[in-house]
Amino acid sequence: MSQTMTEQMSCKQVLDDIVNVLGVQKMLLKQFKYSYKDQATLLQERKLALLVDLDQTLIHTTNEEFAGPQVEGMLQFTCKGTSHLTMLRPHHKRFLESMSNHFEMHVVTLGVRDYAKVILQELDPEGRFFGRRILTRENIPNSDKFAAMQKLFPGGHEHVLAIDDKVDVWKHMDNLHQVPEFTYFKSKNYGLKRTLIGSSKNDDALLEAEKILLHAHEKFFDYYERSELQPTSRLFKEVQKEWETVRISEQIEKLFLTVEKISQGQKVSKPRKRTQRKR
Ligand SMILES: [Mg+2]
Repeated sequence: MSQTMTEQMSCKQVLDDIVNVLGVQKMLLKQFKYSYKDQATLLQERKLALLVDLDQTLIHTTNEEFAGPQVEGMLQFTCKGTSHLTMLRPHHKRFLESMSNHFEMHVVTLGVRDYAKVILQELDPEGRFFGRRILTRENIPNSDKFAAMQKLFPGGHEHVLAIDDKVDVWKHMDNLHQVPEFTYFKSKNYGLKRTLIGSSKNDDALLEAEKILLHAHEKFFDYYERSELQPTSRLFKEVQKEWETVRISEQIEKLFLTVEKISQGQKVSKPRKRTQRKR
């Protein structure tokens, strides 16, 4: 073999080695960027996976001009040259803290990555809740969150739950808890003038979501510890039904109290209208 050929072969060997190393690095980098536990590991830790939407589930953002006062939980920032004003939903801290003890959480949002990053700097500055588990518009082709979930859990999503204000992007799957849309910034017409005002009075949707998701978690592990793996989609249907019963009995209880007050000649306040579920 000539010296040139030997040199060419060793060069090729070096190049192959570099390609291999780079390939492994790329793979490791990918894993580092989006690392999450498989179903078996998660279940051993008594945890499920929870996919969390951002817009109108945990926050509300507007690009309109807002004349109201700056209050706690309001963020003002510019992203890609556009100014944004975001309000964090009441009870978001408690919700995230509580969920993180029972679920491995992922953000699944149709917002762009740069925007999601700014929001997460506020919601999760230390990365304790979501780490790098963030799927944004760039990772969700055709805005199909259901397909994105299937891709994320190719081995099955029996242990997965999701929370969102929209159901169509999830193909109306059963393991989804739909929260009423959080709309803090609302347009009001004052004569010819249209003004944006802010209000999130009595928004306790995340407190209710916390109870429902924890109930689903408990139910899942009741079966699991009896060596029965019941998929969250089946259990969640039951949980939603049970919760509807709880809601109805609470309403009946309130109604009884109101009747009692009226019969005692006490003043009663008008009941608050409930947002219609879009199921
Ligand atoms: Mg949303």
